[in-house]
Amino acid sequence: MRVLLVEDDVLLGDGLAAGLRDAGLGVDWVRDGVAAEAALAAEQFAALILDLGLPRRDGLSVLSRLRQAGNSIPVLILTARDQVADKIGALDLGADDYVVKPFDLDEVAARLRALVRRAHGRAQAVLEHGDLRLDPAGRSLTQAGVPVAVTPREFNLLQLLLENSGRVLTRRVLEEQLYSWGEAVESNALEVHIHHLRRKLGGDLIRTVRGVGYMMERG
Ligand code: CA
Repeated sequence: MRVLLVEDDVLLGDGLAAGLRDAGLGVDWVRDGVAAEAALAAEQFAALILDLGLPRRDGLSVLSRLRQAGNSIPVLILTARDQVADKIGALDLGADDYVVKPFDLDEVAARLRALVRRAHGRAQAVLEHGDLRLDPAGRSLTQAGVPVAVTPREFNLLQLLLENSGRVLTRRVLEEQLYSWGEAVESNALEVHIHHLRRKLGGDLIRTVRGVGYMMERG
């Protein structure tokens, strides 16, 4: 799951980005509202973490313009304790949730997972498909009750496919969700991850849709 973090405070942004990466999320970080809009226009993110007090364009304007443009990406607002009016304003403008600074990193990660889950129309935290069970919070994967060892990238790829089961995911969408900016991506990296997942979980689990991408049938 790849998220966009918009925070101008360097210390806070650095800590948050590192903590969320440790929790298994892909994080791209920008420091002002204009850069945030450019990133959102160019790439697909699973969620947006948005500070309100930002240079060049403030968080409330970014949020308002985003919703006016019909973008329904889940948005988690970062607010200071004394910004009650801003918090209410943000929720009224279409923010999905907020956390108050200083916040707990585990709480931010958990709230993000819940937002993305709701955006996919799921109430359950654990993803199941046949005898496969993937727990995004615990970062664990089992098949028929037996733990399966996968790399963090394989885990994220499988999570994406499970979250979108019944839908074809294009190569472009998968690569955008799996890799952050500036990461060197080998042209066949995606195929290699799919190959490894099939070897570990069974060859017929993930379908290749020739010339388009990959999908899993509904579980
Ligand atoms: Ca700020």
